[in-house]
Parts: sequence; structure tokens; C-alpha cells
Amino acid sequence: MSDIVSDSILERDFSARSIEEQHDFLSQTWCNHCMEMDLGMINPKEFETKDRVWIEGECKKCGQSTITEIVEED
Ligand SMILES: [Zn+2]
Repeated sequence: MSDIVSDSILERDFSARSIEEQHDFLSQTWCNHCMEMDLGMINPKEFETKDRVWIEGECKKCGQSTITEIVEED
């Protein structure tokens, strides 16, 4: 296993995103625990590394942690 991901993770301000974006990211989810999509998440936190941006939150249904990876065009 590589620990590249643990290398310089920065927390971003999820609430700085537009309401529309926040809404989309919080509703378009995949829960590995429920094995269902679009259950929604709560308590979102946004993180970034050099290569990736993602949002971590809790599944609205089961409360397990759920992650949404964001693809950003620059
Ligand atoms: Zn779930």
C-alpha cells in the first residue's frame, strides 16, 4: 500500500462553494455501506491533495463515512 494520499492533505472550505454545487455534491453520493447511490450526506468536509479533491461526509441513511471525489477542470 502506498501512503501518497497522506502526503500534504489540505482542508478546504466546502461552504465557500455555491449553494447549487453544495446541494449537488451532498445529494450525488455513493455509500459503500448501503451500496446505494444518491442517499445524501451530512457534515461534509472538503479536502485536497496535489492531484485530488474530495468531500468526506456521513451517509444520511446509515451514518457511515462516505466520500465523493470531485473532478475539476482547470
Ligand atoms: Zn449508507
